[in-house]
Amino acid sequence: MTFTNWAGNQSITPAETRTPSSPAEVAEAVRDARRQGLKVRMIGTGHSFTGVALTDGILLRPESLTGILSFGDGTVTVAAGTPIHVLNVELDRRGLALANMGDITAQTVAGAIQTGTHGSGRSIGGLADQVTELELVLADGSLVTVSEGDLFDAARVGLGALGVLTAVTFRVEPAFLLHSRREPMTFGAILDALDTFTLENEHLDFFWFPHTDRCLVKRNNRATGGQHTPGRFRTWVDEVVVENRLFEVTNRMGARFPAVIPPINRLSGLVLGASESADTAYKVFTSVRDVKFLEMEYGIPRRHLARALREVRDLMDRSPWRITFPVEVRVTPPSTAWLSTAHDRDTAYIACHVYHRTPNPAYFAAVEEIMAGLGGRPHWGKLHNQDYEYLSRVYPRFSDFVSLRNRLDPDRLFGNAYLDRVLGG
Ligand SMILES: Cc1cc2nc3c(=O)[nH]c(=O)nc-3n(C[C@H](O)[C@H](O)[C@H](O)COP(=O)(O)OP(=O)(O)OC[C@H]3O[C@@H](n4cnc5c(N)ncnc54)[C@H](O)[C@@H]3O)c2cc1C
Repeated sequence: MTFTNWAGNQSITPAETRTPSSPAEVAEAVRDARRQGLKVRMIGTGHSFTGVALTDGILLRPESLTGILSFGDGTVTVAAGTPIHVLNVELDRRGLALANMGDITAQTVAGAIQTGTHGSGRSIGGLADQVTELELVLADGSLVTVSEGDLFDAARVGLGALGVLTAVTFRVEPAFLLHSRREPMTFGAILDALDTFTLENEHLDFFWFPHTDRCLVKRNNRATGGQHTPGRFRTWVDEVVVENRLFEVTNRMGARFPAVIPPINRLSGLVLGASESADTAYKVFTSVRDVKFLEMEYGIPRRHLARALREVRDLMDRSPWRITFPVEVRVTPPSTAWLSTAHDRDTAYIACHVYHRTPNPAYFAAVEEIMAGLGGRPHWGKLHNQDYEYLSRVYPRFSDFVSLRNRLDPDRLFGNAYLDRVLGG
């Protein structure tokens, strides 16, 4: 059965597909793969744009390895294939919540943490930073549980290279409401206010509309008052019409007539107007993304953010490209996970998207050059061209990760072409 990712830019037909429902069945698949001389990997929901999840050997699907396994003191343990949206609902039902997350909830918990999925946070980092324990099957078929030490710090953002995760334990907290303030601003005003905005807000997230001076800033903070939503009509206008359905139409139009893109972007910057709301945290953190796109995202030292944005804007001014998708900016604190894009440094993220029908490798490559000049680290699940040589220079614990991989999986049972490129064969 052929596996194709969400964006439709990666696919592979594995030798065999299995849907294990227990750690024992995962271990059996790992031992069978070794006996048969095949590779083996588990996939999530295919939301990575890179080939990180692919295998031509035994592909393990996550659908039967799902559900809440137990609650601890301020923790929840879930089966590795559980989608984040299921976890959010189950936690909310018990008056609990994850402290932070990315833009969507479709991914599995294991798939999300393995590539370092993050949202925006002044003091709370990506999903892997909220993990307190991992259960995984190693290449020799053994099942281990780790909550500290080298394997824990390496395997939290492990690219599926160190083992197949079977369960993940997250730190949780009492459910909370998030107040969201959204307003248009100019590019210059945001750059002037970057430090203040980052310091004063728990979750800063903003979008710059290329070829214009317009930005949309989202500032999310824990609500002190009660719940108030923007109203069903406004929500429908924002989420369904403007952010998705109308956006699909404008992207199709832009693909045929690129000259209309700058005025459309100006219009989008105006239509997505100011609003305020307060709602259940995971509903505020996340949104619906119906329009298919391709994405590249880099984590850079936060102190370089203003310079990086200026350089990207200058690049766009000089270029012939017409880009419909806004450039998204987020921040996170340093992470202890060895291969987290935020490892050991305050990080700002710059994400570039293009409509899936109009890939633009030259745009991504030119932005990538700017990011690499600032010591940027590409998101493991999003498109990039970096290899072992570059990556080993920007991650202080890279050689420790590779040594651990050499020890735990010398035969590269969990290997694939992407890992050969980024981690070395
Ligand atoms: C619309 C959209 C929005 C996104 N928003 C964000 C965002 O806000 N922030 C962000 O940081 N990223 C974002 N991403 C990227 C996405 O979160 C990551 O690519 C994530 O890894 C996808 O999770 P998945 O469950 O689809 O896993 P997959 O893409 O299927 O797999 C990812 C990796 O995890 C491994 N894996 C999966 N399950 C296991 C397991 N049980 N054991 C070991 N390894 C395993 C796979 O082998 C692979 O290496 C977005 C992507 C899309 C398409």
